[in-house]
Amino acid sequence: AEVREMLLSRIRDVADYPLEGVMFKDITPLLADHEAFSVLTDSLARICTERGATKVIGLEARGFILAAPAAVRAGLGFVPVRKAGKLPGATLAQSYELEYGTAEIEVHAEDLTAEDRVLIIDDVLATGGTAEASLQLVRRAGAQVAGFAVLLEIGFLGGRERLTPALGDVPLEAL
Ligand code: 5GP
Repeated sequence: AEVREMLLSRIRDVADYPLEGVMFKDITPLLADHEAFSVLTDSLARICTERGATKVIGLEARGFILAAPAAVRAGLGFVPVRKAGKLPGATLAQSYELEYGTAEIEVHAEDLTAEDRVLIIDDVLATGGTAEASLQLVRRAGAQVAGFAVLLEIGFLGGRERLTPALGDVPLEAL
């Protein structure tokens, strides 16, 4: 509970960003604070170990910042899931619906194998669209999802409910 309060206190609310009426949760004050960033990294690394993960995925872009140090601390490799068109090798792609239009994410096919149990990390769970697409992508790559972890869940946007069918038994943890 103390860690939770400490992390929350370092997330800044920015009104009307990126659009009017949106309250954006800005994690940069937490990243700039070595103690908070290292507590967060340790917590994410512990989840990797608890879930028996063999690889750690970070979702572009802020998911990279959290997942990469957690992977190193847990002694695991890091795999980036990127927006379409950014990865140079052979990729698997997954598209998903946005409020207006669609988006697409990709992973290098060779980075995941049937033996992998993947912990997926992002900074914020909002509507759950990105998260749902990443679960599908990992499974289509033949790997198992060991868990999904975020720093912050914005509950009223319904991400957890949306993800429940895709998650099944896979635990979703919000720090
Ligand atoms: P969703 O797909 O769940 O609607 O949106 C989640 C994605 O959008 C995450 O990758 C996250 O980085 C970004 N996102 C949405 N809202 C916020 C926010 O308020 N703060 C931050 N830091 N990221 C957000």
